[in-house]
Amino acid sequence: MTSQTRRGVCLVLSSAPGVGKTSISRALLEMEDDLSLSISATTRTRRPGELDGVHYFFKTEAEFDAMVERGELLEYARFLDRSYGTPRGPVEQALAAGRDVLFDIEWQGHLKLRERLPGDVVGVHLLPPSMAELERRLRGRAQESEEEIGRRLEIARTEISHWSDFDHVVVNRDFDRTVAEVRAILHAARSARDRQPWLPGFVAGLLAP
Ligand code: 5GP
Repeated sequence: MTSQTRRGVCLVLSSAPGVGKTSISRALLEMEDDLSLSISATTRTRRPGELDGVHYFFKTEAEFDAMVERGELLEYARFLDRSYGTPRGPVEQALAAGRDVLFDIEWQGHLKLRERLPGDVVGVHLLPPSMAELERRLRGRAQESEEEIGRRLEIARTEISHWSDFDHVVVNRDFDRTVAEVRAILHAARSARDRQPWLPGFVAGLLAP
C-alpha cells in the first residue's frame, strides 16, 4: 500500500429484473481493473450454469443463520422467501486496499449497506425506458408462464418504487451509453475528497515554504 492509497468505492447497481443490470455489471467488471464483484451468500437453489463461490455462496438456512449469528454478513435481506447477504470480509479488505466493489443487491440491501458503511456507498439505480419495454424484455427471456411474468412485473414495480433512495439514476435506453454513464459515476466517486485521506498531508507538502 502506498501512502496515497484511496479508499475503495462500494458501487451498488440495482434495478428491476429485466432492465439489463447483469450484462451492465459484466461489462463494468471487464473494463475496470480495480473493480470486483461482491459474491453474496444465498439460501436459494442453484440455477443451471451457476457455480458455488462464483455466482453465489449457496447455503442452507442453518448455515446462513450461523453466518448472521457470527456477524459475518454486512447486510442481509429476504427476497421471495429466500435469504441473501453480503459477506463482510472481502468487502472490508478491498475497501482498505483501495479497490472498488460492485454489488448486485436489491433495495433493502442498498439501504442497509449505506448504514453499515457510511460514506463508502455510491448507489446507482437503473430504470427501464418504459414498462412496456420492460415487459417485452421479461417475456423475451424464457418461456415463462403468465403467472411468472406477472410476479416478475410485481417485483419490478417494488424495485422501481425505491428509485429515490439512490444517488444516481440512469435510464437504460442504450447499453453502451449506460455502461459509459455508470463508469463516469465510478470514476468521479474515486476522486471524492473524503476517499483520499492522504490529501491533507500531500497538500501541506505542496504548500510548504
Ligand atoms: P437472484 O435470485 O435472481 O439471483 O437475485 C434476486 C435478488 O436478490 C436480486 O434483486 C439481487 O440483486 C438480490 N441480491 C443478490 N445478492 C444479494 C445480497 O447479498 N443482499 C441483498 N440484499 N440482495 C441481494
